Amino acid sequence: MIRYLKRGRDVQARANDDAAVRNTVEGIIRDIEARGDEAVRAYSKKFDNWDPQDFRLSQPAIERAMKSLSSGELDDIRFAQTQVRNFARIQRESMLDVEVETRPGVFLGHRHIPLNAVGCYIPGGKYPLLASAHMSVLTAKVAGVKRVVATAPPFHGEPHPAIVAAMHMAGADEILVLGGVQAVVAMAVGTSSIAPVDMLVGPGNMFVAEAKRQLFGRVGIDLFAGPTETLVIADDSVDGEICAVDLLGQAEHGPTSPAVLLTDSEALARATMAEVERQLERLPTAEVAARSWVEFGEVIVCDTREEMLQKADELASEHVQVMTRDPDWFLQNMTNYGALFLGPRTNVAFGDKVIGTNHTLPTNKAARYTGGLWVGKFLKTCTFQRVTTDAASAEIGEYCSRLCHMENFAGHGEQANIRVRRYGNRPELP
Ligand code: NAD
Repeated sequence: MIRYLKRGRDVQARANDDAAVRNTVEGIIRDIEARGDEAVRAYSKKFDNWDPQDFRLSQPAIERAMKSLSSGELDDIRFAQTQVRNFARIQRESMLDVEVETRPGVFLGHRHIPLNAVGCYIPGGKYPLLASAHMSVLTAKVAGVKRVVATAPPFHGEPHPAIVAAMHMAGADEILVLGGVQAVVAMAVGTSSIAPVDMLVGPGNMFVAEAKRQLFGRVGIDLFAGPTETLVIADDSVDGEICAVDLLGQAEHGPTSPAVLLTDSEALARATMAEVERQLERLPTAEVAARSWVEFGEVIVCDTREEMLQKADELASEHVQVMTRDPDWFLQNMTNYGALFLGPRTNVAFGDKVIGTNHTLPTNKAARYTGGLWVGKFLKTCTFQRVTTDAASAEIGEYCSRLCHMENFAGHGEQANIRVRRYGNRPELP
């Protein structure tokens, strides 16, 4: 049986918030389409109090940002980027181009072609999320994207030097200091100062995520990567302290970030709830974390691990930390998650900042149909075919002709028939 010791805010209440966000974003898109740079500037002023001469950062400004960081800080960024780059390269190498002979004289294949231009959004409203630069810019570059535009909002009224350094070190070709909906819309539709891109990637708050959703079709998007969510699956092999740390570590992202504990131990559930209260008293980001815990936090107790699995797949959470005696059982059986963190020795912060897997992950149940950002999202898998013998052309042509007839497609049928006549030596065919 599945029981809630603590329930989060109901879905209907969230749906009303979503409608308000949808309308705001729709209005901004329409305005930027109509007025271009002028509108971009107006929204940047309104939401971020940011109105520089140029949103594009100059080379000297980039160099100044790099110099303002200590060598230790630069080394740490370099270390994180090396881990992300290494794993992205291995993933890239696993994506082979293929060409195979599927029947005598029939060759089918696909090539992975990098996109020409992408826009990477690096969030920076509440926290300067420099790690997002490794995740999107660097991964795009490993994929072979020619033009990578990276943008982040100003932080406390100016470009954040660590974000700028991370974008630059990751290989960004253009760096903008521009935030929110206005940034992603400008990159998607293009303005007189910003050339349009082919795809938008990167996480962001609900406005950024909704803007990407509305722009999908006009440009590609990586996935729906909105406010963070975390699910901790634990049994009594761990204690309440570590569960509470892992819940609050993600709840601090923002006041709408659900943190959920799923356990088969009521004692652990109660210990974790008490620990959350205790830790909130000393967590420097408690104001945000407490709001999200009170509104969206959940504690769910199950009788069996099968029930935990069923509930976890239903939640389709962005991050899933598994701290049970048999974490590999969840790896083998779980189907809906953004990323799994197996065992107590690793955790979501490792994945967010440094370990090398990508931290841009599906939220809002998008994990039902997609994994997170990875090098493959920057590549188009495009097929090709060739037929190298007359016999093969005639054989496929005859099948094709009959299938076209069943669909009443006369023009398609004639495309097949002409090949059968010419290459099958059947001039008598109609
Ligand atoms: P952000 O950069 O996403 O958003 C800040 C921008 O929002 C501002 O520049 C401003 O222009 C715009 N904005 C603020 N209020 C607005 C309003 N009322 N109307 C229109 N626009 C408005 O930074 P953030 O707010 O700190 O959010 C970062 C988000 O990214 C968090 O929710 C975090 O959980 C999420 N995140 C998700 C993932 C993932 O993979 N899913 C990874 C990392 C971070």
